[in-house]
This record gives sequence, structure tokens and C-alpha cells, in this order.
Amino acid sequence: MPTKLIPEPKLIFEKSRPGRIGCNIPVCDTPNLDLEATIGPVRQDLKFPEVGELDLLRHFTNLSQINYGIETGFYPLGSCTMKYNPKVNEVTARYPGFANLHPLQPTSTIPGALELLYGVQTILQEVTGFSHITLQPLAGAHGEMTCLMLIKAYHDNRGDTARKVVLVPDSAHGTNPASAARCGYDVKSIPTDRDGNTDIAALEKALEGDNGKAVAALMLTNPSTLGLFEPNIERICQMVHEVGGQVFCDGANMNAMVGTTRPGDHGFDCMHLNLHKTFSTPHGGGGPGCGAIGLQAHLAPYQPVPVVRQENDTVITDYQRPLSIGRVSAFYGQFLMEVRAYTYLMAFGREYMADISRYAVLNANYVRARLKDVLPPAHNRPCMHECILTAERYKKEFGVRALDISKRLIDYGFHPPTNYFPLIVPECLMIEPTETETKETLDEFCDAMIAICREAETTPQVLKDAPSTSVVGRLDETLAVKQLDVKYSAAV
Ligand SMILES: *Cc1c(COP(=O)(O)O)cnc(C)c1O
Repeated sequence: MPTKLIPEPKLIFEKSRPGRIGCNIPVCDTPNLDLEATIGPVRQDLKFPEVGELDLLRHFTNLSQINYGIETGFYPLGSCTMKYNPKVNEVTARYPGFANLHPLQPTSTIPGALELLYGVQTILQEVTGFSHITLQPLAGAHGEMTCLMLIKAYHDNRGDTARKVVLVPDSAHGTNPASAARCGYDVKSIPTDRDGNTDIAALEKALEGDNGKAVAALMLTNPSTLGLFEPNIERICQMVHEVGGQVFCDGANMNAMVGTTRPGDHGFDCMHLNLHKTFSTPHGGGGPGCGAIGLQAHLAPYQPVPVVRQENDTVITDYQRPLSIGRVSAFYGQFLMEVRAYTYLMAFGREYMADISRYAVLNANYVRARLKDVLPPAHNRPCMHECILTAERYKKEFGVRALDISKRLIDYGFHPPTNYFPLIVPECLMIEPTETETKETLDEFCDAMIAICREAETTPQVLKDAPSTSVVGRLDETLAVKQLDVKYSAAV
């Protein structure tokens, strides 16, 4: 049990003392410059902190130390794939030849950048099994929406305009129904059966007769958010195709499949990939991401412009696409994310790519096996890249919820797993260890989880009061969403 005590926010932030100065501003050597006349009067109402240089340095160093990230510890946030992003990705993204490019430069001056984009596309084609890749979407949800826009364009172009429904399993990520609704579709939920698979009988019903004629697409996550591979995937795709619908794969997390199996071979028409999850570009905090999409050839005519493709051994940007849905973002997407992803993909190469999925799946099953006696898995079969456990027993017997277990984990020095998602598993804990963690780390984490479950039985209040060693205690989560306040302000 760590006992690190972190001072009150007041002691962390209120360092200012009148008259203290942390820098020496050189004397102005421009003769006759009236600063105030040039830039206006200094605003006296702004209360800048007055601190010495050492105070300032310690302040920021200490802040960095009370922050938690993948570089300080294990971060098993399920569905988010918080794997370690190798530092070499940052080195290449900072090469001046990439970092200093301007998106409006004439394409004749950026052949290297275009080659790189084409290179990422080519490798992702091979990894996903789709014949076309677009890198423009800026996030996973954006990739989903782009796929649905392409599906809509495909149906409309064939004069098949009566399709108004998108089917979404009840285990899906919230962005799925949101993307469908954003594209003007009605969302119909498909239940999950007892084994954690798509309920085939319910799907049959949703595709029957007139129902089927209204279905534009099915959005399916595979492996599902239950961490399970859908065994009926080929049959499901076939069922939807038979009634004229399209099948989209939510491939935000491809960690269980990279180098091992390909959604393009399973019958899907399109998919999105989060390069900021599986392909190791940084994410979180709303930063730049990339929701690359993969398409089968029949959807390719509708691709966003510019299409980056090869012509006579040269990579070009093609805008002459009469059926294109247009742009979905400015320029070419998040170019430096592609540089990072390219570095990552090339570092593994074809030979080692499958190690990613092998170790991701192995690690998740190891955690699942070590915790099964205290936190039973929601389904009784091996998991893929993440394991979904339930803390229902502790709620029933001791009034301790999954959230309390997660908060207590912070006291043990770990970032909590995802809680209460997927929604269909009661008191759900979704753990995604990723392939980049060692057995020692996984063991420390499992030991902590087992110790916490024991505490839940003997001293449940400790869990309900957690976290007790962090800067911020238990937040009112509803209020925190409605009145987001992420800065410290001194009490006046
Ligand atoms: C993360 C995630 C998304 C959404 O990706 P964003 O980049 O956050 O928009 C969609 N589906 C699944 C399964 C995810 O895990």
C-alpha cells in the first residue's frame, strides 16, 4: 500500500509572494521605445503569480509527478488501448522535413510526405484486408460517420433511397448510434445473446420482409466490446447483404487481430481503425487522432477527396472523383499521426506484426484467469484483447460497487479500468492490459485487485471512501460533467 501523501491544492498552487521575481528582463535597447504606447497599458487587474525561478521549476516538476499516465504506471482502461507508444515515433514526427511542412504547400514540393501517406495506406490495406484506405477522418467517431456517409452515398447512387435504419448491437460503443443518428438514420438496437454473441434470431427478425428493405447497414464491433470474437461473423455479414444492407466494422481496437486475421476477409464492407489506439499514436485529452477507414472496392468511388494514390510510379492527390462525398476534414488528416503510425508499422514489419495481437490476447487472458475467483468474467470463454469482469457479488453482499473498486485501485497506484461499459454487464469492469506490459506488472495489478476484493468483504467503507492518497478525492461525477472545472483558483 503506497502511503504517499500529497499536499492540499492550496499548498501546491499558492506560492506567490509580492515582489518575488523569477526572471531578469533585459533592459530595452531600442532607443525611444514607449512600450506602453506601442502595446497598451499593462493590465493591473491580472494577478500574475510572483515567484522565484526555483519555485517555478519545482511547481511544474511536482505537478508532473502527481499526474498519472502510461509513463508512470499501468493504464488498463478497456476499449481505449492505452499501450505504450515507442519514443522513436516522436523522433520521426519531429524531423523538420515532416514537422515544418505546410498543408497548403504545392503537392509538387511534398513528394516524400505523399509517399509516406501512401505507405501507411498500403500497409493498412494489407493489415485489414480492405482494398482502399482513407486517412482523413480525425477520430474514431469521425471514421464511423465517414463510413456511414459512404454507405449512404452508395445506396443513394443506386437509387436505393428508402433505407432509413441502421442496426446497432446493444453492446456497442456510444459513438455508433450517435454516428448513425448524425447521418440521419434511425437506430435499431440488436440484443446480445447469453453467450455474448449477436442474437441471431433477433437479427433475423430485424432483417425480415419490409424490415430488411429499410436496413441501410449493420454496425458491428469485432471483437465485441465484451472482449469476444463474434463466431458467426461471416453468417451475419451474409444475412445483411442478402437484404441489400451494408456491414460496417467498428475496428477502433484492432489489437486482437493485427497480423492474425483481417476484417476485410470476414465479409465487412468497411471499417474504421483508431490509429491512436492500435497503431500507437498518442491519444487522450481530445488531442489529434486518426480514424482511418478501410473500404471494399464498391465503396471506393465515394471516398473523400483528395484520394492519395499512385499513378505511373508517382503518388498523386486525386480530386477528380465525381461521386466523392467531398472532404471530411481540412487537408490530408493529421499528417504527423501518420508519420508516427508509419514508424510503428515499419518497426514491426510483416514478420512481427502478429506479436502485437498474440501478446495482447495472452495478457488479457492472463489477467482474466488470475482474477476469475474474485471477479468472475461476464462470459465463460477465452477473451480477446480485453476481459470483462463483473463485481455484482460485492454490490449485492457488501454494497460495494465496481466504481468503489476502481477508486480504491488509485490508492494502490494504478489507473482504474473502464467501468460500467458495456452497459449490458452489471457492475462491469473492463480491463485491457495491452501487449506492452510485462508479467510482473500484470501480477502487481492482479495482486492489488485481489487485495481490494478482500477489503470489500472486510472493510467495505475503505473502498467507499477511496481514493485517499490522491490530490483530488471522490468527485461528484454528475456535477463534474455538468460544471467542468479543471483549473485551480484561489479562494478570495
Ligand atoms: C474509442 C472507441 C470509439 C471512438 O473513437 P474516438 O477516437 O474516441 O472517437 C469507437 N468505438 C470503440 C469500440 C472504441 O473503443
